[in-house]
Amino acid sequence: MTLEMHPLRWGDPAHATALPDGARALVEAVFGPAPATSAHDATSETELPGALPPPGLSASLLSSLAEVVGEQHVRTDDEIRRLRTRGKSTADLLRARAGDLDDAPDAVVRPGSHDEVAEVLRLAGSHRVAVVPFGGGTCVTGGLAARREGFAGVVSLDLGRLDSLVDVDRTSMTATLQPGLRGPRAEALLAEHGLTIGHFPQSFEHASIGGFAATRSSGQASAGYGRFDALVVGLTVATPTGTLRLGTAPANAAGPDLRQLVLGSEGAFGVITEVKVRVRAVPEVKVYDGWRWASFGDGLAAVRALAQSGLRPTVLRLSDEAESAVNLADPDSIGGGAGGCLMIVGYEGAAGRVDAERAAATALLEGLGGTNAGEEPGRAWEHGRFAAPYLRDSLLDLGVLVETLETATFWSGVDRLYADVKAALERVLGDGGAPVLVLCHVSHVYETGCSLYFTVAARQAGDPVEQWLAAKTAASDAIVAAGATITHHHAVGTDHQPWLSDEIGEVGVRVLRAVKAELDPAGVLNPGVLVPLDGA
Ligand SMILES: Cc1cc2nc3c(=O)[nH]c(=O)nc-3n(C[C@H](O)[C@H](O)[C@H](O)COP(=O)(O)OP(=O)(O)OC[C@H]3O[C@@H](n4cnc5c(N)ncnc54)[C@H](O)[C@@H]3O)c2cc1C
Repeated sequence: MTLEMHPLRWGDPAHATALPDGARALVEAVFGPAPATSAHDATSETELPGALPPPGLSASLLSSLAEVVGEQHVRTDDEIRRLRTRGKSTADLLRARAGDLDDAPDAVVRPGSHDEVAEVLRLAGSHRVAVVPFGGGTCVTGGLAARREGFAGVVSLDLGRLDSLVDVDRTSMTATLQPGLRGPRAEALLAEHGLTIGHFPQSFEHASIGGFAATRSSGQASAGYGRFDALVVGLTVATPTGTLRLGTAPANAAGPDLRQLVLGSEGAFGVITEVKVRVRAVPEVKVYDGWRWASFGDGLAAVRALAQSGLRPTVLRLSDEAESAVNLADPDSIGGGAGGCLMIVGYEGAAGRVDAERAAATALLEGLGGTNAGEEPGRAWEHGRFAAPYLRDSLLDLGVLVETLETATFWSGVDRLYADVKAALERVLGDGGAPVLVLCHVSHVYETGCSLYFTVAARQAGDPVEQWLAAKTAASDAIVAAGATITHHHAVGTDHQPWLSDEIGEVGVRVLRAVKAELDPAGVLNPGVLVPLDGA
């Protein structure tokens, strides 16, 4: 698995697959024939579209940066600048396909230690150069597209050289990792000790430990292992005004927990240079069961009952009727809602505990009217759990607009949230009778509520970036009106910022601004990401 992704696509270029003929025919049957090639379809693999603006940093700053990190770790060539431009949202991919490289950094700097990070931040502050921390580059909320107005340039601070497992404390069951470690490498290093973090977001293959912490990521097994922010027990952060070292004990009453101020700070307060996480023994057994429900409503009642029962399955997901039909590859029922809903309930851990949990959950779900579909749907889910982003590329190639969005709310608000977001997406993308597919699943479950994860597909029309922005705005307005969160795990970036003050209030925004002013007085860290700029 190569670490560098294709600049116009998701993931390892070697894993990209063309859609089988049957699937192409199905896409045409649902959305109509693909339109003539547009600028956004310019996906020639040999000649990449667009030209980079000339790199704008002064020679003296570049040489100072080279003195800090080494000459070979300061790059201004087109190839690396293109690879560090934005993240991997559908809008990011469409802009890259259209040759829009306006957000390209002027230079990519790869520090090799905490002290080098701190020194780069000092130089950036004195030269008024914006710094964008870069972990895996899988961001989907505009968090890698810092505003450049008012700055002498933009540096992408690539943390890839900070990729060591620093320490394993088996007695405490903690591990300290550097931020640039990608998911698979971190798990492989811990597996040598018989340990796992248990954090497997869909972006696992490319996202980094620092990125997980900076965005408060949530994984597919977070029901059992916990969200990433719940796994972090310690952090080291380089800020322009000094180093924060947090986490001397598993819990404390030493004032507000400042770790929570860093988790989710998206590079706007400082650069995370070390993360200490809780680890678990590699599970002896993993088993994933499929369950069928007559309707999404019945399934929702069942996931809630399970979440509130005290049982703690490792994986708990529920697809609505449309998503179940797609997952079960039953073209006749796509969008028809005839086939009921699929739930995946997974158990990982020591054999005895897995058996006991599974038996108790099975009894509960049978009592609620669920049909046990055996292990096959669970195996299919596990097999394809990291494949969907490759499918997105294939659909974009066929002129289909496909993107996801997520939110969360308390159980009492779930029905309204589901209905309102779906209706908003269908209204905007289905305007004029165009076919639109809105799929949804419950991706994360808590005793008090759950997150909803929507996947949307429609035929591209006009400028597909604008087309998506209109749909996303309507969905975000619906989310806020329903009293739900603008993001359960994708973070704020620049894309969700217009709805942030609805969620945390003007006082909340002032608190964020005050923290930023204290830690980053020159405002060079990720300007415009998470914290609204003055006057915004
Ligand atoms: C196909 C796909 C599937 C996804 N699935 C999930 C999912 O299941 N769950 C989920 O939670 N998210 C998911 N995401 C979103 C994304 O993967 C997460 O937000 C992830 O945590 C980002 O990690 P990264 O290393 O790629 O960070 P990057 O994209 O490199 O950066 C994300 C943000 O954090 C900042 N940052 C990065 N590293 C540091 C650091 N060391 N210190 C300070 N700031 C830093 C960046 O400046 C940026 O603002 C998905 C994204 C894609 C494209």
